[in-house]
Amino acid sequence: MIGKTFAAHVSAINYFLKLRGRELNIAKCSQLQMLKTGMTNTAAKLRVITQFKRRALVRPLIHAMLGCIKTRNRTNQWRRLALLLGHDGMLRCSNLTYYDKEPDWYLCPKHITFLPSLAQPDRMRIRLPGSKTNHINTEEIRIIHCVCAKNWPCTVHLLLPVYQARQHDPGAWLFAKQDGSPYYRHDLEETLLNCCDFLDLEYKYYTPHALRIGGATWLWWHQHTVAEIAHKGNWRSDSVLTYLRSENPDLIKIGYQNGFGRILPTKSDWTNERAKKWRFILK
Ligand SMILES: [Zn+2]
Repeated sequence: MIGKTFAAHVSAINYFLKLRGRELNIAKCSQLQMLKTGMTNTAAKLRVITQFKRRALVRPLIHAMLGCIKTRNRTNQWRRLALLLGHDGMLRCSNLTYYDKEPDWYLCPKHITFLPSLAQPDRMRIRLPGSKTNHINTEEIRIIHCVCAKNWPCTVHLLLPVYQARQHDPGAWLFAKQDGSPYYRHDLEETLLNCCDFLDLEYKYYTPHALRIGGATWLWWHQHTVAEIAHKGNWRSDSVLTYLRSENPDLIKIGYQNGFGRILPTKSDWTNERAKKWRFILK
């Protein structure tokens, strides 16, 4: 059954690429490996097109974006948190925003636990309900630590008041707009679009999935191993390697340097001994 579906996927992607004057290189196409793990056809096609367009939306860029969202109404509170939470938790858009089709995937107060206590949290645990790429619906856990001591905007302590305001309704959407309605994908896209506009960045590089890429890349730049990143962000194939970017030219634009003083891996590093070793660990 897998074989037939897989062949259909290959044929569909090939057709899709030919329309855009490109050819499919199966050996280099990690998307096809993802299809084998059950990713939907449309999602994989989108990745083929956009994979090399997106840039890692790493912490400094998020800080610059937070500076663009100043009004402290409830809607903007969510806008700020979505960027931080998406990055720190390496979340997918389907976890952060409401999907009419799959409301069970949406993040609710019941999925979040502040540890060691609500009164004095130093970290929080998010139990993700499910996702498009997780067909067997096993739980995904993310742990996010307080970074108040490091003077970063802290996801844990910014989320706390939002959580407390919503905890009476544990099964409802965590992020509600000013009028009480949930946040949709296009709301998050609009936030990113406006921030990019403000910072003179090109929006095409910063779709919501750039948050997941940014979270993984940020860990990579800070000496975490690929195995650790795959564990933290719940990647179960080598597709995690496509999330680790060696640089982001836009950092210079906002006054930061790539890598913060360390030598960064380049794309060729993906095939080096470290990557091979990591593949071995997974098996
Ligand atoms: Zn904190």
